[in-house]
Amino acid sequence: MTITPLMPVYPRCDVRPVRGEGVYLIADDGRRFLDFASGIAVNALGHSHPHLIGAIQKQAETLMHVSNMYGSPQGEHLAQRLVDTTFADTVFFTNSGAEAVECAIKTARRYHYANGNPERHDLITFNMAFHGRTIGTISATNQAKLRDGFDPLLPGFKYAEFNDLEGALALIDEHTAGFLVEPIQGEGGIRPATDAFLKGLRKACDDHGLLLVLDEVQCGYGRTGKFFAHELYGITPDIMAVAKGIGGGFPLGACLATEDAAKGMVFGTHGSTYGGNPLAMAAGEAVLDVILEPGFLDHVAAMGERLRASLEQLIPNHDALFESVRGRGLMQGLKLKHPSRDFVAHLRDHHGLLTVAAGDNTVRLLPPYVIEEAHIAEAIEKLSEGARTYVPPSDD
Ligand SMILES: *Cc1c(COP(=O)(O)O)cnc(C)c1O
Repeated sequence: MTITPLMPVYPRCDVRPVRGEGVYLIADDGRRFLDFASGIAVNALGHSHPHLIGAIQKQAETLMHVSNMYGSPQGEHLAQRLVDTTFADTVFFTNSGAEAVECAIKTARRYHYANGNPERHDLITFNMAFHGRTIGTISATNQAKLRDGFDPLLPGFKYAEFNDLEGALALIDEHTAGFLVEPIQGEGGIRPATDAFLKGLRKACDDHGLLLVLDEVQCGYGRTGKFFAHELYGITPDIMAVAKGIGGGFPLGACLATEDAAKGMVFGTHGSTYGGNPLAMAAGEAVLDVILEPGFLDHVAAMGERLRASLEQLIPNHDALFESVRGRGLMQGLKLKHPSRDFVAHLRDHHGLLTVAAGDNTVRLLPPYVIEEAHIAEAIEKLSEGARTYVPPSDD
């Protein structure tokens, strides 16, 4: 037998983390890493944040799980806080981002069904999109590396070029339910939507009775320095998928919707065994307590500006390797002139800096929101040293 007990779907590196301390990860061999990956945009409060730990410990001692058949004071409270602070009127809690997107897709289809238009079932999605790994969410992207070998995929999706408003509008027909889009593509390479693109999609939805479904699983929940990325564009969605940062490391996601968009989601149309259980709600409450503290998102925005400015300064010093920087807040992408995976490994193995490779030759920098200027200086130092010592593989 050669297959590993852990199904070998991840090319795991030889860093084996066993402990986290704020912005640092410690591996089983004692190595210490500056963590600008954050579990891929998950550890919003860094590692071992005392408020999050305390909330989870206390809830675990009190009540960990009950079925959604019972009343949920915990879920009602967190949902009310999200309703009070966002465009949404209602929330469905999930355990992951893919499930949040699945709920968003179902909500969009049921909306048109409830309106007597069951034929309006297609969502227009975009090149390089990432919405998760379920059959539904891989059907919602046209990236071959996510889809190959899993046919038959689900019908009901059409694909347009990201940031090409005319191309997206040209796909609208009598079967269109709406658009599903990341305001800032994450896995696709930290590609922000342009203002005209996102505003144009919003307007098309208003003009044609369509739904704007945003996937803010990666770019939402404070990552950009706003609570949600769509606030940077001055628009609101009808439906939105959220996850990653919302639980600060506890598996939690949410699908948020307006009352009108959720009109089809009546008794019996959706469910989840674990979704929104008391332990998850305690984690969600603790993260929200910190994120909504006055000044906290301003700190994220300020650190984002500092990180961005430092990266921009770095580029001309290493212009054989670095091409450009893009992103918002603490979601920055450093685009290389080579594929990024090997440089990410170099930074990790030789300079103790954790980052994440993404599409389009991009190194993703996704630090915890609690970073300070000293951490940014340390990361820039490591990036600069890393660029100086890096020798690209000859086959690049
Ligand atoms: C990570 C991600 C998902 C999937 O989340 P999971 O928790 O892995 O299911 C969906 N959409 C976007 C934009 C993501 O970044």
